[in-house]
Amino acid sequence: MRKINLFFGFIFILLSWKNIPEPKYDLLIVNAKIVDVNQGKILSWKFIAINHDTIQLVGDMRKMGNISATKIVDAKNQYVMPGLWDNHVHFRGGEALAQENKNLLALYLAYGVTTVRDCGGDITPHLLGWRKEIKEGTLAGPTIFTSGPKLDGAKPTWAGSIRVLNQQDAEKALDDLQAIPSDFVKIYDGSLTSDAYLAILKEAKKRGLKTTGHMPLTTNILTAVDNGLNGSEHLYYVLKSCSPKADSLTKLNIGYQMMSTIANTYDPALAVQVYHHLAEKNFFVTPTLYIGQILAHVATDDHSHDALLPYIGKGIQATYAGRVENAKRAAKSATGDIHNKTEEVFGEMVKPMYDAGVTLLAGSDCGAFNSYTYPGEAIHGELKALVKSGLTPQQALQTSFVNGPKFFDKSASYGSISKGKLADIIFLKENPLANIQNIDSVQTVITKGKVYTQKDLNQMLAKIKN
Ligand SMILES: [Zn+2]
Repeated sequence: MRKINLFFGFIFILLSWKNIPEPKYDLLIVNAKIVDVNQGKILSWKFIAINHDTIQLVGDMRKMGNISATKIVDAKNQYVMPGLWDNHVHFRGGEALAQENKNLLALYLAYGVTTVRDCGGDITPHLLGWRKEIKEGTLAGPTIFTSGPKLDGAKPTWAGSIRVLNQQDAEKALDDLQAIPSDFVKIYDGSLTSDAYLAILKEAKKRGLKTTGHMPLTTNILTAVDNGLNGSEHLYYVLKSCSPKADSLTKLNIGYQMMSTIANTYDPALAVQVYHHLAEKNFFVTPTLYIGQILAHVATDDHSHDALLPYIGKGIQATYAGRVENAKRAAKSATGDIHNKTEEVFGEMVKPMYDAGVTLLAGSDCGAFNSYTYPGEAIHGELKALVKSGLTPQQALQTSFVNGPKFFDKSASYGSISKGKLADIIFLKENPLANIQNIDSVQTVITKGKVYTQKDLNQMLAKIKN
């Protein structure tokens, strides 16, 4: 009896050994040239094995062995990189424009954007619905992080904002955001007092919420950072502290009118001190250079033949008129060239800020009301603008999909093509490390376990075309 048991046991082990299943994956990408933006290198001849939405294995084609997969995608030696993050976008314009906002999701994907950080709007319930559908794979679009409504003062600039006048309001506003729950706090300076602003920062810090946005010009970014501010959108607020005139101009209480003098008195030596202070606090700055350039010329440039305009709904197109009118008015006034001067200084700030260790975020500020900055294309524009300002293509790419996750403490899931990271992947025909212009050569987009070929992406775009 004992002998027979041993015999059958042996046979069983033999059979089990013979039946060891080959590793099987949902998706296998072969013949990939991986763009390693951390080392600034191209890793040739790689395979990437994926289950559901996560990378399980990355290896050398020559050592791949018998890996099987439900779906195999041949990258044909194209450049394979994490999907782009646009760290400053908007979904807004009210209920009537909800569907047009939803259509923009296709544009993001077509340009290789697999994650967006929504910096505040007035259609949060819709956005949360899309976010859920995207997560579940029933809607094609980028992963969405959202601030929910913006916080502003007594007379908010943007529809849907939450009013904060004092400490009590700050607590209530953050309760509301946490109930959504939003992913961070976006503060706006339409009419926010310095005291209410600082109350928001302190309360958010106490609750462990990330804060970024505009800053009332009645305060100072170094004070804000010392009170817990995590990031700054646009460069105005950092620039302000880089001028020796900042304090005297603040006392005049003239708002953004101070910016021409500030820009003209930008002091690079003082700036380096400011940048180091920000870097010490692990501060994030989103320069939004590209939209600055578009808006600087929006009064005179003819955008009626822009290739992407037909992909923007008529309702959102109508919101573009506001900034054009403002720009035309400004051009007629005596201070018409302020915009160009500040944009010039903004460009100068980027490289020394980066060198000092400030964490930069690539963000386009695209969305309704922000004229002629098209979802997807605009973040390509921002990356090119960052390179023009002195970053290498490698550094610029890091500001998109390496630093974006850092803001949310999500670096473990994003930032490279490696085991354990989410499989948000794009194929590029040309090498983006060699030339940032090659970011335009997106061929294939993979996110949430789905592969979108050029044909798929074109079909999605065709559906949203006017
Ligand atoms: Zn914005």
